Amino acid sequence: MNKENDADPTTSNFIREIVKDGIATNKQEGHICTRFPPEPNGFLHIGHAKSICLNFGLANEFGGTCNLRFDDTNPSKEEEVYVQSIIEDIKWLGFSWAGEIRYTSEYFDQLYDWAVCLIKKELAYVDDLNADEIREHRGTPTQSGRNSPFRNRSVEENINLFASMKNGEFSDGAKVLRAKIDMTSGNLNMRDPVLYRILRAHHHRTGDQWCIYPMYDFAHGQSDSIEKITHSICTLEFEDHRPLYDWIIKNLGIYHPQQIEFARLNLGYTLLSKRKLLQLVKEDHVSGWDDPRMPTISGMRRRGYTPESIRDFCERIGVAKANSTVEMALLEHCVREDLNKKAKRVMVVLRPLKLTITNYPEGQIEELTAENNPEDPKSGTRKVPFSRELYIEQEDFMEDPPKKFFRLAPGKEVRLKHAYIIKCEEMIKDRNGNITELKCTYDPDSKTGGSTAGRKIKGTLHWVSAQHAKKAEVRIYNHLFINENPANGQGDLTLSSGLNKESLEILQDCKIEPSLLDSKPGSRFQFLRMGYFCADLKDFTPDSPVFNRAVTLRDTWAKIAKQKK
Ligand code: ATP
Ligand code: MG
Repeated sequence: MNKENDADPTTSNFIREIVKDGIATNKQEGHICTRFPPEPNGFLHIGHAKSICLNFGLANEFGGTCNLRFDDTNPSKEEEVYVQSIIEDIKWLGFSWAGEIRYTSEYFDQLYDWAVCLIKKELAYVDDLNADEIREHRGTPTQSGRNSPFRNRSVEENINLFASMKNGEFSDGAKVLRAKIDMTSGNLNMRDPVLYRILRAHHHRTGDQWCIYPMYDFAHGQSDSIEKITHSICTLEFEDHRPLYDWIIKNLGIYHPQQIEFARLNLGYTLLSKRKLLQLVKEDHVSGWDDPRMPTISGMRRRGYTPESIRDFCERIGVAKANSTVEMALLEHCVREDLNKKAKRVMVVLRPLKLTITNYPEGQIEELTAENNPEDPKSGTRKVPFSRELYIEQEDFMEDPPKKFFRLAPGKEVRLKHAYIIKCEEMIKDRNGNITELKCTYDPDSKTGGSTAGRKIKGTLHWVSAQHAKKAEVRIYNHLFINENPANGQGDLTLSSGLNKESLEILQDCKIEPSLLDSKPGSRFQFLRMGYFCADLKDFTPDSPVFNRAVTLRDTWAKIAKQKK
């Protein structure tokens, strides 16, 4: 791929420029502090990786710090398993946060006091309207809202009612605390937004201590403020919330971080929304959050993607203000480029066809030398056993080949990788006409160092010695959705109808070279000519090896980039 064709990362990130300018004008006394604030209501996906790379990346680049804060204000959807998975994923991506992990729930006391503070300033009130009535009073973008009949309660009454809400004297939903701003504002977020609601739900950290919980908008800005975040970076949908963010902080008279919005990542052929991903898991369309087809960090890890390739991808896509969809081919390109440098080359036959070399001495075994990675001279060599009976790939033989087929065919010659030139003499078919075996002869002098080693042969095939081969399961993954843009025009109910029924193909009888039995779960390989694969993190054992295809060898991105040029 032509690097010059990529957007230059140092100019494609406008937030970097804002941070630089701030430092130049000494706005933050030289220190920047960012944060990554996940809600623990699902596993992280590649969109979160973009935010992680941005927040931790800026802190690293400018000698600042980045906090990890769990935004845990909605106990009905949040769970400890999600907290643990998020921690694991951030570490795996290669980032570390400043100090202890933070939780918005640690600020609940302070947030309560701040709510009281707004009540005292006559900037908040307890409302008895229910959710439907509040919605109905809010108005629409073209029609201004109406004041609640409870809007003019006295400070004293509000303080008492709010305390009673906290003390559990009202049922869920019976009352809320609202900011008193402006029901005629052109920004719906400013029409007396709800700040607190009553909710009896067990919280994964505070247990049953609270029965009122702050809304996101009444927790996020103040949490940023408490932590002295300099740049509070979030996605575009919060742009309309910024006036409220600023209003709350200004009226509380506390430290004021700068909120900056950027476009969220959308990726082709998949969905990036925890809610929808949870639906895929719950409805068993995938095996779990870490199914290798999922766009989650844990799914990608299991599939064989590297943290380096994901970070490279996040750098290349840049950061912009306009929403767009990034091609999956670019992510795959990054994975391929990284694995090309790192992955050990091995020989695996995915769909085996037996091949016998009739003039090779029966019982003879040779240990041939094979290089581990031509891209990395330090990776050395290994021994691969060769014998009279081998397996090759079914698709590498054609009885009646077209002109440019440089693989095996009756009467044709090919080279076996790291070994000899062979010639196909005969094919054996079963009763149904299926080819079951090939009989070949070999040229004994055509091995490296032999007198005919330099003979020009167009095709080179990978192979495995039948007697030494081990059986393995290989899982081939394809796009989870049929359409490049599955989110378009699809409500929840039809999620499954857009699924690609061929997103997983399981090959049960693959033949792997014996060296692969020593693999550790998670180790990555290039199966020569077949793609990049990873020993499955959960299911691989030496007794029953399982590999996942991370990515094919063919680079569709290079083609796309060329066309765009
Ligand atoms: P989802 O819609 O998938 O649940 P979210 O925004 O609700 O995502 P959070 O846990 O609140 O998820 O997100 C933590 C951080 O990650 C936020 O700052 C959010 O803006 C960012 N983020 C989430 N999705 C994306 C995305 N697709 N691209 C970039 N950043 C994202
Ligand atoms: Mg969210």
